[in-house]
Amino acid sequence: MRSWTSPLPFFPAHELACKGSGEILLDIHFAVALPALRMEWGGPLTPTSVCRTPAHNKNVGGHPRSMHLTVNPARKTAGCMAADIAWRDWNSETQLRFAKLARKMGWSVGLHDGFCHIDRRADIGMAKNVFLYGTWSGAFTVDDVTG
Ligand SMILES: [Zn+2]
Repeated sequence: MRSWTSPLPFFPAHELACKGSGEILLDIHFAVALPALRMEWGGPLTPTSVCRTPAHNKNVGGHPRSMHLTVNPARKTAGCMAADIAWRDWNSETQLRFAKLARKMGWSVGLHDGFCHIDRRADIGMAKNVFLYGTWSGAFTVDDVTG
């Protein structure tokens, strides 16, 4: 298992770092897949949350086994494997197009009004999934993304 601790193509340090500690610790699968998704998408992607140390994850009420965790004893990860991509200002068609592309490229996708949660759980042997993540009042459903 390898980790990556630097900025990525298209994604500066401040977008990747834990908002609590400033730490960047990415699983290598995620570090490779995020710029690839950005290139295929062909437009800007702005993460609002990527790395979370266990302490910061607790502070923000994150799931105890969150794929955002830099250290995740419950999972075979070597760092954060998730990003929340801001999409509140996108229209529904663009949101759906992004969710479908991410899924096609191996990401699990969580729909939230403010952002699209994407993670690489499938890279560590977990089932790829599309799900609702908190508040979702968008114009499409999980089935629209998987269909
Ligand atoms: Zn998330």
